[in-house]
Amino acid sequence: MYDLDSGAEARRISDAAMQLLEAYEIPANPDFFRLMYDYVSGRDPVVTRQLGDAASESNARFRRVATDLLLHHYGEGRTLNLLSETGGALGEIVNRSVGQLAEAGSEAKDFSSELGGFADGLGEVDAAVSVGSLVEQMVTSTRRMQAKCAKLETDLTQSSNEINNLRNKLDETRAEALTDKLTGISNRAGFDKALNTAIVETRDENSPMTLVMCDIDHFKKFNDNYGHQVGDQVLRLVGGILRSTLKGQDIPCRYGGEEFAMILPHTELQGASKVAESIRLAIERKRIVRKSTGEAISRVTMSFGVAEYLPGEAGCDLIERADNALYRAKNEGRNRVCIGEPAAAEPEVETRSAMAAAG
Ligand code: GH3
Ligand code: MG
Ligand code: MG
Repeated sequence: MYDLDSGAEARRISDAAMQLLEAYEIPANPDFFRLMYDYVSGRDPVVTRQLGDAASESNARFRRVATDLLLHHYGEGRTLNLLSETGGALGEIVNRSVGQLAEAGSEAKDFSSELGGFADGLGEVDAAVSVGSLVEQMVTSTRRMQAKCAKLETDLTQSSNEINNLRNKLDETRAEALTDKLTGISNRAGFDKALNTAIVETRDENSPMTLVMCDIDHFKKFNDNYGHQVGDQVLRLVGGILRSTLKGQDIPCRYGGEEFAMILPHTELQGASKVAESIRLAIERKRIVRKSTGEAISRVTMSFGVAEYLPGEAGCDLIERADNALYRAKNEGRNRVCIGEPAAAEPEVETRSAMAAAG
């Protein structure tokens, strides 16, 4: 998890971020500022790598990559763009429909007064011939009105199809904004949303729910030894193991960088610890091969912290308890599952040794 930068550190990073915006002639709006802040602080490896490469090429390239990152890496930019495009498109459809309805309204009014005229005419005529010609005119007017109504129906059906398409596109974008591109599982925004939903359900149903926070061990060393591309391959692998091991309502997430989380509704501490242990084993057992050369790569392990939701607890407190357990797992030697306070009063599930002892 990102630590809050201290006041002085945050000031140093903000100043450097503002200088970069000026140097590269990038608008100092909050989106670009955040991007530069992440770049200067080095907290987001994707941003660091891409902007670092672009900076060594040209100012124009730096600006292009910055805009692209904002749109595609952060996701919000893309969502905002789509929302404003969708808003514009909806406005057009509504205006067009209002115009069509107004036109239909005035034609219906004309038609009604035309029919009124025929009725008056019918009262005055006596010769069959005149009646016949009036009826002819009424048929013609009615057909004309029918054709107008049919056209209106087609136009309105088309508008309603366009609105449905826009709605589908919005749903897709919303799902995309909650998904991590690299691993295909929920991203941090998806995690926040899913945790809030899980907490509401837990309260309503009075059912258990457990959170597992996990972090790849010594991943920095791994990146240093094999490079970021292999690092990304490992992140995808971990995401895949989480996705294929978890079932039903369980939600795997990439919490950030090389940290993952699992939200396990309807699951108590012991059950969740077993799930974490089976994922720990699956990752430990995986043999990784560098795609480009076929070279075998040193094993990856992961540490886990498990905490069960306490009635009335806030999401951030649950995360903190799971995180504390995770740090304990790191301190106690990594590649293990630890459970969080206050449930630590129970015999601690140091699952690796406990399960090994049980055979
Ligand atoms: P620990 O066992 O204590 O967790 O050690 P660590 O090296 O994993 O932990 P640390 O938090 O010090 O470093 C995390 C490193 O993970 C920093 C960076 O090199 C790498 N990393 C974070 N996010 C990404 C990512 O999206 N892609 C790649 N390839 N590497 C990342
Ligand atoms: Mg970490
Ligand atoms: Mg780590």
